[in-house]
Amino acid sequence: DLETVVSPSSLIPKSRIQRRWDDVNSYGVKKKLQSWFQLPNGDWELGKIISTSGTDTLISLSDEKVVKVKSDSLVPANPDILDGVDDLMQLSYLNEPSVLYNLQYRYNNDTIYTKAGPVLVAINPFKKVPLYGNEYIEAYKNKKMESPHVYAITDMAIREMIRDEVNQSIIISGESGAGKTETAKIAMQYLAALGGGSGIEYEILKTNPILEAFGNAKTLRNDNSSRFGKLIEIHFSETGKISGAKIQTFFTTFGSMSDQSLLNTEKINLKSASEYKYLRQSNCYSINGVDDIQQFRVVMEALDIVHVSKDDQDSVFKMLAAVLWLGNVSFTVVDNENHVEPVADEALITVAKMIGCDVGDLKLALSTRKMRVGNDTIVQKLTLSQAIDTRDALAKSIYACLFEWLVEQINKSLAVGKRRTGRSISILDIYGFESFERNSFEQFCINYANERLQQHFNRHLFKLEQEEYIQDGIDWKRVDFEDNQDCLNLFEKKPLGLLSLLDEESTFPNGTDLTFANKLKQHLNSNSCFRGERGKAFTVCHYAGEVAYDTTGFLEKNRDLLHLDSIQLLSSCSCPLPQIFASNLLAQSEKPATGPLYKSGGADSQKLSVATKFKGQLFQLMQRLETTTPHFIRCIKPNNFQSPGSYEQGLVLQQLRCCGVLEVVRISRSGFPTRMSHQKFARRYGFLLLENVASQDPLSVAVAILNQFDILPEMYQVGYTKLFFRTGQIGVLEDTRNRT
Ligand code: ATP
Ligand code: MG
Repeated sequence: DLETVVSPSSLIPKSRIQRRWDDVNSYGVKKKLQSWFQLPNGDWELGKIISTSGTDTLISLSDEKVVKVKSDSLVPANPDILDGVDDLMQLSYLNEPSVLYNLQYRYNNDTIYTKAGPVLVAINPFKKVPLYGNEYIEAYKNKKMESPHVYAITDMAIREMIRDEVNQSIIISGESGAGKTETAKIAMQYLAALGGGSGIEYEILKTNPILEAFGNAKTLRNDNSSRFGKLIEIHFSETGKISGAKIQTFFTTFGSMSDQSLLNTEKINLKSASEYKYLRQSNCYSINGVDDIQQFRVVMEALDIVHVSKDDQDSVFKMLAAVLWLGNVSFTVVDNENHVEPVADEALITVAKMIGCDVGDLKLALSTRKMRVGNDTIVQKLTLSQAIDTRDALAKSIYACLFEWLVEQINKSLAVGKRRTGRSISILDIYGFESFERNSFEQFCINYANERLQQHFNRHLFKLEQEEYIQDGIDWKRVDFEDNQDCLNLFEKKPLGLLSLLDEESTFPNGTDLTFANKLKQHLNSNSCFRGERGKAFTVCHYAGEVAYDTTGFLEKNRDLLHLDSIQLLSSCSCPLPQIFASNLLAQSEKPATGPLYKSGGADSQKLSVATKFKGQLFQLMQRLETTTPHFIRCIKPNNFQSPGSYEQGLVLQQLRCCGVLEVVRISRSGFPTRMSHQKFARRYGFLLLENVASQDPLSVAVAILNQFDILPEMYQVGYTKLFFRTGQIGVLEDTRNRT
């Protein structure tokens, strides 16, 4: 009857409930054969327990060496049959070394994908692995293969989109070089294969080389690092065919460019890369295994495919040339107050020619600034460092505008049209949480965004878990579900939050990074997620760990350095692109404010701060994601050398913590992560029973097993169809089963 089904504790004698439960650890030491033992370098090694006396345990390691360790430092290992399971949830012991070992075991077999409950973990192989292509796509499509894969998760997204008539999203995160962009492309391939037919899927795939050519750069961490976040929304018609797509880019950080793929053409007065100051800084002109000429052809072909006209392509290269030549513009001091003027050399003249402006106007824009004083406009001359900043801000701005414009052209070409009635799948490729030795404004913004994404992730997982328990009639309340709302409040609260205080200080003419840091300490020290540090530093307790930020450069990076004078210069140009850029820039600064506006350089222009724009974009992104069913992929970088075959436990562990995989594991530990149907449980362990139960139903057999093995009632729940166990419970039974 239902009563016995839902309250199994009534079947078990009281005395057993009252008996103390040995914790997993001491259980491991007493009865388990295998345990994890931590080496001084932090890595874990598997050891076999020989004997235990007092607080010490003797274990033998794989090389036959025997060591004596403190018993409480041992962590239980899983039985061998669980080696390399394809879902971490199947592990009886969900501790860190077991998770690390399981992923490594699979990685060594080129099985780079593993599930952690609903999350797909992908470890970058840094080599070609035989897991992709039409055969695999067919196998996943026809459900002939079900092992974890980007294809499998993408397939699930398509099915759920059709079944539930709800838009889907695939959220890919991980640190630089972890494989996010490659993973996004693999997902796009699968979508294109399943939803193809109209030909538009071919155009969609061709957007990748364009975005990478203009938006990626070689960095220390990744030879092909995306300098922007990307959401690509792929639309499907009612018949399940791709009908169009829309790309949105976020948080572009174009510090320096490394577009070496440009070929010499007379029209744009192009020299070799080493002639340009902007390209010279890295001292790196080629990348191993990258054929610039071949890549250039791919990009040019892709521009044709997404319908960028030849005229527009010419304009694009003129803008690139203008940016490169701007970097070479130099200045001479013209008075004893260190005011400067640009030198009228090849660089300056070429820039003017490329953007189509008067050389005199360009000179003025680079060496003076108009200021409004009362009702008068006065012209202030710039010093050398101000002029250099103005020049670099103009170059960055032209580049960023060019990138935005290209994305807009791509979107026009892929537009879904008015007849859009179907559903969409969005793929998000965005920087993961970052924590370095020194963390600046960029990490501050990225980590803030990740805090928001983490909340989205938590809420979704929480919902999934709860649904499964409710479905099976389990009375379950999550007690220790940790929300990161406090940390988000630290960033977003008005007027006393990190972002508000930053904007406020940025508007003060006398504000400096130090006065900003002091204000934070003054107002936020009582916040549990904040800690003031010495000098210009402060620490934030993120969900993924503590990060110490150095405020040096915060105010300057938060103020948009582009002056109205530069925008006016662009609008006076005879070429079409600079004019478009100018009107976009003006429109951006006139957008209704979601944060305080501040006056830039005393002129009349009022602009949104960089952080406020960032927050606006983030909120828009979150709003779009909220309307979708999310699927999560966490990319992991196994080493810092971009090399195949090397798996560094410490590095992997740190990422697992940061991207919330261990959090998923932790959350599950607080619930009942091991689930088995009544039937399967009875079949698997029934033979261990001392009494004969052959004639009984699976649930009665299951209860008899639980009794015989003294599994305590707080360690499991009996649902309508399944038994739910806390971590480690099945291990006892598995061990006995293996020894029998
Ligand atoms: P960033 O944040 O810097 O943009 P990312 O996470 O997007 O980094 P990717 O550019 O996708 O990283 O991957 C870095 C490199 O790793 C790729 O250029 C490729 O060489 C390799 N790589 C990633 N995923 C795979 C894969 N599935 N198979 C083979 N190689 C891969
Ligand atoms: Mg990338």
